[in-house]
Amino acid sequence: MTTEELPSAPHTILDWFRGYEEEATLRGFRCPNCGLVTATWGLACARCGKADLTEIALGKQGTVVAFTILAVPGEDFLNDAPYAYVVVELEGGGRVTGWMPTIRDTDHLSIGDTVRFVPSYKPGVQFVRDGAGGSPG
Ligand SMILES: [Zn+2]
Repeated sequence: MTTEELPSAPHTILDWFRGYEEEATLRGFRCPNCGLVTATWGLACARCGKADLTEIALGKQGTVVAFTILAVPGEDFLNDAPYAYVVVELEGGGRVTGWMPTIRDTDHLSIGDTVRFVPSYKPGVQFVRDGAGGSPG
């Protein structure tokens, strides 16, 4: 098997994880052909099929578009349950899934709430309610 026959990707899945875990950056792609912005790693545009996507840094703020409360967590989150598993539409485009450690009940979060990505030593993309904790930006 050779890699030369495969289309090249701007970054690997491992790079993506390293991005948000170590560099506090959510990496994404913009299609130079149709302009689609996506957080989903891929070799070609999901909309028009063009390869050679441009790597970009996605926005760190976004809007909750879906969420659920997880009471039975994975191994890495045993001490955090219950917490929210969220789908966030980022400013500027791209949709990512993440988790919110301080949301313990469906009353604590609403669709449309603004949230902000913050780096975490835990696996996964952690969001907090925008304006809550830490320094802004
Ligand atoms: Zn495209």
